[in-house]
Amino acid sequence: DPLMQHQGEKVLKTLVKSGHSAYFVGGCVRDELMGRPVHDMDIATSAKPESVMDLFERTIPTGLQHGTVTVVMGDYPFEVTTFRKESHYEDHRHPAAVEFVSGIVEDLQRRDFTMNAMARSLEGELTDPFQGLSDIRKGVIRCVGKAEERFDEDALRMMRAIRFASVFGYRPVKSLWRALINGRDKITYVAIERIRAELERLLLGAYPLRGLELLRRSQLLHHAKAPFIEPCKLTREGAKRLQALDYMPAEPQELRWSMLLQGLAIAAAEAEVIMKEWTFSNQVAMTTSQIMRFDEAWNEIRASLEPGDTEQLRRSWVEIELQYGQTISRLWLDRQSRWLAYLGEEDRAAQLRLQKEEMQWHLAVPVHDLKELAIRGGDVLTTLGLKGGPWLGELMKRLLLLVAVGDVPNEKEALLEYVKAVVK
Ligand code: ATP
Ligand code: MG
Repeated sequence: DPLMQHQGEKVLKTLVKSGHSAYFVGGCVRDELMGRPVHDMDIATSAKPESVMDLFERTIPTGLQHGTVTVVMGDYPFEVTTFRKESHYEDHRHPAAVEFVSGIVEDLQRRDFTMNAMARSLEGELTDPFQGLSDIRKGVIRCVGKAEERFDEDALRMMRAIRFASVFGYRPVKSLWRALINGRDKITYVAIERIRAELERLLLGAYPLRGLELLRRSQLLHHAKAPFIEPCKLTREGAKRLQALDYMPAEPQELRWSMLLQGLAIAAAEAEVIMKEWTFSNQVAMTTSQIMRFDEAWNEIRASLEPGDTEQLRRSWVEIELQYGQTISRLWLDRQSRWLAYLGEEDRAAQLRLQKEEMQWHLAVPVHDLKELAIRGGDVLTTLGLKGGPWLGELMKRLLLLVAVGDVPNEKEALLEYVKAVVK
């Protein structure tokens, strides 16, 4: 985003003009060098938070105790953090002491990985004391300093290492991997929300399978009995589903979660519980399990019917679609087309034919909701001269299904005709 870049440079200029040193740091420098899109730009400076607040019109004291002030420039927020070091980590997670330091190199030293420990000046000069650029070129993840110590200070870094390896398709260097294996039990000090956030980024990156494989091999989440990585449960079909993850779009994330959980032979009902335990939002947990339920229901029907019985298959499809709603059936269709695209040539032709039918059935469903019917409950009561009751709701649902499968046109007269015929 050249606009963001421009505004960020304005922030640097203001700091430098006032006699401070200031750099872009961390993820944005890394992503630029990798040729990846930059989503936000962090700035490190020698200026103390108070000076930063004085220098800029629009500031938010985001984390003064850590030296962080958010500066808003041209509607873009920039996190401006005073050069600092951290020490006396508590609980293998939080630095108890933050101390401001004078130089950028000392600031870079506290950062987790070499590729995240680079700075770029206004003139474009790279400060790269730990050979981050060289590690990017090699495609490796390496800690700044001794991996054992860095993981001992902050156990979340182990999860971040696997996440970055997964998202970038990089490989952890041997020393990092060894330290991770030795230190993995300390992951229990990290809040589940933080692990989940990393897990999300891992699964939604470009190489989810790679990340899952690293998680499995490292047994980092072993303590949590993480259902995401239990290798023993993998069937042949399951392994295929996991491999198909790389073919799924990252958005909406429920496509990948449902595929993963299904690949691990976890049932829809269980999936919802697991996702809630892992602090996913109710929305994500629900939608994920609904896609799985849809799939389970549809597979069951398909197995019980003759493949050639197209008419009965179509009717069953419409019934399931009404039950789960349009949103879920669209998500399922989207997921299904990726899944089929992944499957081998052999069964593909037949599968694709079936999928086309499903898509056509889906597109042809004229109504999904009682509100879309040409008559209301009141119309039924007037026509029949009856009082309402639970039977009315049942009847309306039946009408909806009849219209949805195409047995009765969605017209008032035709529907009332039908009602008169059945309720004598
Ligand atoms: P992205 O935002 O794309 O995930 P990022 O590198 O910007 O990547 P952030 O979590 O936003 O990651 O952190 C910004 C920077 O802060 C990192 O690049 C790294 O230098 C430093 N950092 C973040 N978390 C840690 C940590 N747990 N230990 C050490 N340094 C960290
Ligand atoms: Mg970032």
